[in-house]
Amino acid sequence: MSACMTQTLHIIGGGMAGSEAAWQAANMGVQVVIHEMRPKVETFAHRTGHLAEMVCSNSFRSDDDEQNAVGLLHWEMRAADGLIMAKADEHRLPAGGALAVDRDPFAESVTEALMAHPNVTVEYGEITELPSDGHWIIATGPLTSTSLGAAIQAETGADRLAFFDAIAPIVYAESIDMDVAWLQSRYDKGETEEERKAYLNCPMTKDQYEAFIDALLAADKTEFHEGETAGYFDGCLPIEVMAERGRETLRFGPMKPVGLTNVHKPDDKPYAVVQLRRDNALGTLYNIVGFQTKMKYGAQSEVFKMIPGLENASFARLGGIHRNTFINSPTLLDDQMRLKSRPNIRFAGQVTGVEGYVESAAMGLLAGRLAAAEILGTALETAPQNTAMGALVHHITGGAEAKTFQPMNVNFGLFQPVDGLKGGRRGRKDRYKAYTDRAKSDWQAWLDAQTKVDA
Ligand SMILES: Cc1cc2nc3c(=O)[nH]c(=O)nc-3n(C[C@H](O)[C@H](O)[C@H](O)COP(=O)(O)OP(=O)(O)OC[C@H]3O[C@@H](n4cnc5c(N)ncnc54)[C@H](O)[C@@H]3O)c2cc1C
Repeated sequence: MSACMTQTLHIIGGGMAGSEAAWQAANMGVQVVIHEMRPKVETFAHRTGHLAEMVCSNSFRSDDDEQNAVGLLHWEMRAADGLIMAKADEHRLPAGGALAVDRDPFAESVTEALMAHPNVTVEYGEITELPSDGHWIIATGPLTSTSLGAAIQAETGADRLAFFDAIAPIVYAESIDMDVAWLQSRYDKGETEEERKAYLNCPMTKDQYEAFIDALLAADKTEFHEGETAGYFDGCLPIEVMAERGRETLRFGPMKPVGLTNVHKPDDKPYAVVQLRRDNALGTLYNIVGFQTKMKYGAQSEVFKMIPGLENASFARLGGIHRNTFINSPTLLDDQMRLKSRPNIRFAGQVTGVEGYVESAAMGLLAGRLAAAEILGTALETAPQNTAMGALVHHITGGAEAKTFQPMNVNFGLFQPVDGLKGGRRGRKDRYKAYTDRAKSDWQAWLDAQTKVDA
C-alpha cells in the first residue's frame, strides 16, 4: 500500500454528505478524492452530474436557530465554515422563515468550489466493493448503487441494511394525554417493571374506530416515485392499504385490543387500541406502532389527532415509506462513525439513518472532521451531545432503539433536558431557547478546541 493511499481520504458519493465531508477534511489539510458515480451511472431521482444535487424539494427547512432544531443545525454548520450552508446562503430564495435554495446554481457552485480546492480531486465512476485499506467515508445516500449495497450487506448482515424506510409517525411524549392513555405491555409481558410498561396505549370505542377507518380511506396519499416500489411490500404495508383490505384488518393487526386493561376505565373493554413504543433512550419520543403510511403530511396530522390521547399531539416526524438505503448504525458504528468491523471505513449522510439534506450534510461535516483528525494524528472527540450535531450523532450511534431503527430528522426530542425548566407546551419557548443557547456555546467550544490544536 502506498503512503499516498494511507494518507488520502477517499469519499464514496459526492452528495450533500460527501461534498461537505470533503470540504472539511480538505480545509484541515488532508488530500481528498471524491468518487462519484454520476453522470456515468444514474439514479432514478438525480437529474444532473453535479455534486450536492437536491433531488426533490428545494428547502433546507426552518432557519430559526433559537426555536427550531434544524435551524440550530444550520447555525452550527455555518459556525464550522460548512460549504453546503455557505452555498445555500449564496443562492437563497425568498421563503419566509425557511431557507429555500435555487437548486441548480447551488449544486453548480458546490461542485465548482470543490473542483477548485487544491486538496480535492473528483473521480467519476461507481465503486462496487468495500475498500480493504486506506481511509474511507461511504456517503452514498438513500440511492446507494445496487452493487455497493450488496457489498455493504455482505459485511454487515442482511438484517442490518435496509433498502426501504417504513417510518411510523413519532410523537413527543410530553404532548400525549396521559389521562386517556396508559402504559402497559400486552399481557403485562416482561421481566422488569420497565418492560411490563414498555407501550403507551390509546383506546378507541367502536364509533371512534369506524370514524378513524373512514378518515384513513378518504385521506390524500402520496404516490411512489418511478423505480421506488420494487420489493417494498414485504411486511411494511401502509396502514391505509391495510384498511383498504378490510375495515377489520387493523383491529386484527396493529390495533388489536387484546391483553390490555385501560387503567382509567378498567371495566370498559376498548374496541381497538393504538400502541406507541418508546423511540429513544431519553424517553422523550414515542412511535405509533405499525403506522407506516403514504398519507400526505397534512392528512396525517388530522387523522392521527383523531386517536384518543393524541388530540394535542406534536409530531417529531410524520410517517412515510421511501426507497432508502440505510444501515443499522446503532449496532454497526462506533461514536467516531466508523464501521466497528472495519474501522478504516466511516459512514456519513443519509445512509447512516438520518433523513434530509441538512442532517445528511451535517453528518458529512462531522465525519469529514473526524476522519481528517485521525489521518493527522490529532485526537478529536465526536460532537458534544448537547449540540444539534451531537444529539443527532448520539441518536444514530447509540441512543436510538436498534431493533426498530428508522431514519430520523433532527428535533428537540433528541436533546437532553435542561434542568429546572418547565415541561409541557407552555414552557416550550423557554425550553427551546435554553437548548439552543446551550448547544451554541458547546458547539463553539468544540470548534475552538480544534483551532487551538491547529495553531
Ligand atoms: C426521491 C427522493 C426524494 C427526496 N426528497 C427530499 C426532500 O424533499 N428534502 C430532503 O431534505 N431530503 C429529501 N430526500 C433525501 C435526500 O436525498 C437526502 O437527505 C440527501 O440528499 C442525502 O444526502 P447524502 O449525501 O447522504 O446522499 P445523496 O445526496 O443522495 O448523495 C449520494 C451520492 O452518492 C452517489 N453514489 C451512490 N452510490 C455510489 C457508488 N457505488 N459509487 C459512487 N457514487 C455513488 C450518488 O450518485 C449520489 O451523488 C429525498 C430522497 C429521495 C430518494
